[in-house]
Amino acid sequence: MSAPILGIDLGTTNSLCAVFAEGAPTLVPNSLGEFLTPSVVGVLDNGEVVVGAAARELRVTRPDRCVSRFKRLMGSDHTVDLAGHRFTPPELSSLVLKSLREDAAAHLGDEATDAVITVPAYFNDNQRKATKLAGELAGLKVRRILNEPTAAALTYGFHDRQAEKTLLVLDLGGGTFDVTLMEVFEGTLEIISTAGESFLGGEDFTDRLAGLILKQLGLQLETAEMRQPLLVARLRQQCESAKQQLSDAAEAVVAVPDAEGRIAAGGKTVRIASDAFAKAARPLLDRLVPPMQKALRDANCNLGSVDDVILVGGATRMPVLREFVEEFYGKTALVKHNPDEVVCLGAAIQAALIADDRAVDDMVMTDVCPFTLGVDTAKHMGSQIKSGYFTPIIHRNTTIPVSREETFSTILPNQREVTVEVYQGENRKVEKNLKLGELTVDGIPPGPPGQEVFIRFTYDLNGILEVEAYVAGSGKKFRTVLTQHAASLSPEEIRAATERLQQLKYYPREDMANQRLLRLSERIVGEIASFHRQQLEEAIDSFEAAMNSSDQELVAGARATLEYILSALGYSVPQDKGDDHGE
Ligand code: AMP
Repeated sequence: MSAPILGIDLGTTNSLCAVFAEGAPTLVPNSLGEFLTPSVVGVLDNGEVVVGAAARELRVTRPDRCVSRFKRLMGSDHTVDLAGHRFTPPELSSLVLKSLREDAAAHLGDEATDAVITVPAYFNDNQRKATKLAGELAGLKVRRILNEPTAAALTYGFHDRQAEKTLLVLDLGGGTFDVTLMEVFEGTLEIISTAGESFLGGEDFTDRLAGLILKQLGLQLETAEMRQPLLVARLRQQCESAKQQLSDAAEAVVAVPDAEGRIAAGGKTVRIASDAFAKAARPLLDRLVPPMQKALRDANCNLGSVDDVILVGGATRMPVLREFVEEFYGKTALVKHNPDEVVCLGAAIQAALIADDRAVDDMVMTDVCPFTLGVDTAKHMGSQIKSGYFTPIIHRNTTIPVSREETFSTILPNQREVTVEVYQGENRKVEKNLKLGELTVDGIPPGPPGQEVFIRFTYDLNGILEVEAYVAGSGKKFRTVLTQHAASLSPEEIRAATERLQQLKYYPREDMANQRLLRLSERIVGEIASFHRQQLEEAIDSFEAAMNSSDQELVAGARATLEYILSALGYSVPQDKGDDHGE
């Protein structure tokens, strides 16, 4: 039997991997035995790259050696300098994907080479291509780029195949918000419309909380981030856990770190009540409304015709969000599946559909293009010609795959050439939309204005656009898969980037649990009373020395001592559950 296709949820905050096995999707644990792998990359002092929980711990004490939230940079020309290396966002994502792939291979006992990777529905063409590239750089053949809410809907549809309903999926992850309206009918899932915001997520709520606390200290988040990065890194972590506590309790206490990011025993604390958080979060909640309205309007649907509102994404655990949504729709929201896992499980179901697994042979799914795609055109305005107008070729929420052709004409006498500028967006002026690329059509025969140029857009199941153009009778066809962005690399460039990534030194995955414990202990050193400090530091030193010696017996002994001291100090130590950990 061939290795299963991996279903991967590449998240802003956490990433997950699942496979479809024995008729059902199953999550794959990482080397720590956990399903969530933090999407954080770090570089240790010795130059070794760490990914996941160990990197997240390292970020607290050494924010300069770590990077997170890079999903938000996907598709842009940004690069990130990290410990003497320069990374593009797809390269950083590829390190997370590589870590998931290796964990899956270790768990499944089989090299996994193919994957379905999910993206926010509202990811544009550049962001999708960047995601596909990240997969390739991680040594994966990307079989499908799948919209996250569609993946969530697949999980709901898989478990409730006889339903006949209109469902609205609201997906609020770490960094993005997606709304998708769909109809389910006897195993057929039809996506009707989708809308969203690519810069709104749970991390913004954490930042609101951090902003609230910094304000009490007379500081502002943006300036504090530049001037006191250690304080902000530690405060963010404190606020992240306070935000999660506020999902279950009426208040949370946040210990305020000093400028070095240390939290001293008996130091300053700030008490945050859930209603103060709700008030600070309100502007973010209000931003949920326009995409929700747009999805309904595009589907010609009113609030009353939605049967179930499904919440997906870790940030929908916030009671303030649930209350807001329930008030908006006048009904209780549905959370039948774990909001952290539902997207990844859906990716594994999509993998089963691709592999023609018999367990899904009664399921059919159709998706839509989430935004309008078109070209820049000029118009005659009286005696003047004005350019910069956006002419759609594929309208948003058209079922995919789709291929549409439109006819345009030259506007100048003897015009021999046309540059087709391709845009994505909803504004009638191109300057307000996103330019995806351009294509030059030449060889137009001389003649009066009005020579016909045919432009065809083909949008595939991965949400990737191909543009073709030709002039009648010239016999020449011009084609592009839009190459102007950093995400579109030539095969040679991909090979060079892969080689560069392969030359990095990687911290061994089987020792990741030790690395995490080491980083966690380092953070705790700064938090405890000084008379315990020396004992803890000695235990850390012995543990680190044992790890460097690679003597497994020594490591186990030093680890046990360190764990004992940490638990005596009242800290719970995350348990490494091992590779054989099932669901
Ligand atoms: P996802 O991308 O779906 O993994 O969602 C990640 C986001 O969910 C992060 O911003 C987390 O802070 C947030 N999150 C996870 N658990 C909770 C919780 N219990 N309460 C509030 N937010 C949460």
